[in-house]
Amino acid sequence: MTETLDTAPLLPWLQPHWAWLQQSRAVGRIPPALLIQGPHGLGKTGLARRWAQALLCRADTTVSPCGSCPACRLFAADTHPDYTRVEPAEAGKAIGIESIRQLIHKLSLKPQYGGYRVVVIEPAHELNINAANALLKTLEEPSPKTLMVLISSAPHQLPITLLSRCQKLPILRPDRDTALAWLASQSLKQEPTVLLDMARGSPLTALALDGTDQLARRDQTIQGLLAVRAGDKDPLQLASQWEKDFSATTLEWIMAWINQLVRLKQGLGHTDTGLATDIPGGSAALQSLSITDLFACWDLLLNTRNRMAHNLNITLLLEELLIRWSQTGRSHNR
Ligand SMILES: [Zn+2]
Repeated sequence: MTETLDTAPLLPWLQPHWAWLQQSRAVGRIPPALLIQGPHGLGKTGLARRWAQALLCRADTTVSPCGSCPACRLFAADTHPDYTRVEPAEAGKAIGIESIRQLIHKLSLKPQYGGYRVVVIEPAHELNINAANALLKTLEEPSPKTLMVLISSAPHQLPITLLSRCQKLPILRPDRDTALAWLASQSLKQEPTVLLDMARGSPLTALALDGTDQLARRDQTIQGLLAVRAGDKDPLQLASQWEKDFSATTLEWIMAWINQLVRLKQGLGHTDTGLATDIPGGSAALQSLSITDLFACWDLLLNTRNRMAHNLNITLLLEELLIRWSQTGRSHNR
């Protein structure tokens, strides 16, 4: 991905993080190993790139990368020799020992420009155990002016030995007003509040969802559930409709919706973690289900998710899920 950082403004919710990084530089305490951690869709990758570019930039500034010096131009073209990005060969695969061996070899040579060398490893939790151990040795004996930036949305999956070597820079979801103000400047085709809910409060995810059919598909999924509750649709019929396209994402939508219903039932109101309440019929579902029913549904969904991960027969799973969904709360009065 090529970026021209001189024209891309810093995302507003990352300003404190950026200020912290600049401060570390101003006082001469740049962390040799930095872990940028936080949920997807908040701009961790962009922040790491901006930081790397600022460190490599040859202009006489410590504020932001200039975007026009030779180093910035090489960086923008992804050809800066002192910048290395380590990632899985294929998305979703592990980062193996060979990638780290290559990195160690590269770092054993002199930097080309005599300044900093920056290594970004993303997603760091995809390092396999051998790769993590090899990297640990490098972190324990850091070469001067070599800076490691690890990025992870699942830092708990990193070995504790590695974690303890890193200065952490946690990024939290921005508050709703900040996120919506930023989305308002992005000329969205769809309703920002609904997209943000669907993105669980992550603005960049909301932006990526805009203009896709994800929202319509999410609503269709919930409509199907409501139709089963209302007795307008047979659970087995819905299971056979769903089986072809049902994915972990579909299950996430349902879980987020149930989560939202739980919050509303408890009088907690709206939350960034749930879905919008604008789905027709949602309030009927809310009335027909007690809090106990909703928790039972939640357990059912968790169980379905675990079993999906083990590639069990999806048709059977969906049939069981939808039959139990149609029956939940039917045996007692409220
Ligand atoms: Zn520059």
